Amino acid sequence: MPGVYISYPFCSQKCTYCNFASGVFTRNQQERYDVALVREIEAHVWQWQPETLYLGGGTPSLMEFGPLESTLSPIPSGALVEATMECAPGTVTAERATFWRSLGINRMSLGVQSFVPEELRRTGRRHTAQIVESDIQVLTGAGIRNINIDLIAGLPGQTLASWRESLSWVERLSPPHVSIYIFELDEDSNLGREATLGGIRYGAGLLPSDDAVAEMYELAVVELAGLGIHRYEISNFAKPGYQSRHNLKYWTGEPYAGFGLDAHSFNGGTRRGNVDDLNLYLDRMEAEQSPAGEASTVDAEEERFFVGLRLARGIQPTEGEWRRFRDPIEQSIRDGLLEREGGWLRLTPRGFLVSNEVFQNFIEVRAGLV
Ligand code: SF4
Repeated sequence: MPGVYISYPFCSQKCTYCNFASGVFTRNQQERYDVALVREIEAHVWQWQPETLYLGGGTPSLMEFGPLESTLSPIPSGALVEATMECAPGTVTAERATFWRSLGINRMSLGVQSFVPEELRRTGRRHTAQIVESDIQVLTGAGIRNINIDLIAGLPGQTLASWRESLSWVERLSPPHVSIYIFELDEDSNLGREATLGGIRYGAGLLPSDDAVAEMYELAVVELAGLGIHRYEISNFAKPGYQSRHNLKYWTGEPYAGFGLDAHSFNGGTRRGNVDDLNLYLDRMEAEQSPAGEASTVDAEEERFFVGLRLARGIQPTEGEWRRFRDPIEQSIRDGLLEREGGWLRLTPRGFLVSNEVFQNFIEVRAGLV
């Protein structure tokens, strides 16, 4: 069953590591966006009933009540089973949580990133561990118990000891879902520019080594498993029954429709992305033009193969795929990065750590480079 993704790119600060098409914009741009977004959704011809909805960004938890209601009301909701909102800690109030729940939002994804004050300060985030704890209490009090905590491994100044501190907060708060992202320095972020130009404000010189980050990730896998929160995708961990149904669509090749700035859609055969420049998006919508860029055709079988390998359960390659990718499969099995069990192929624990390397070998075969 398909999903819907809605982008709300407005934030109260620009985080130092962030390279998304999001940030601090003017009130006027926000008001124009609220109108444009509803217009884009209303113009959509629904060929299916969405099963999942995901409000991302940006910081959709900053959306005002009226625009949020207007954004969600044109979406067919009869088959919706999961509706997630990304949320910046510190933006939760009892009134908002009750309103979100009344609109059918039943899952929150909290952009915590770290529970350590100095690490948070360097990211530009303004919350504390205590704020996260209080937000979770308010959300559960309003009936939203399906909560994800995002953490980043590899932040400037992070050590194994400080990482343990963040993980101990996860144990204390016991969310049913945790996402662990490995920090990647992007040259278009403030941190990336600092790394290039030199400087000490954001801590670009304090990035932990690759080995240290790998150790943090491995520690998280073990500690979370001890809490009953098991890895089901490279970056995603959940208690039984709490895997993100929306995000699973990305890894199993199911269709989704995206609305708003830089939102992507996939209909099973082609993928298209909306423009990622806010003013261009607004201008196009106000001129009654499509905000979409060019569509690209996707080889559904290949797509299923590559994104499916991100899942802990792995994939069942077709006979043609076993033949076509025989060399990189055998090489990765010899290197201890992939394992085969019956008709299934999956990453090994070590393969999860260097998954990009594994995928690169397949991509080279696909591109005819080997
Ligand atoms: S990381 Fe999230 S909250 Fe921070 S600027 Fe980027 S989209 Fe906004």
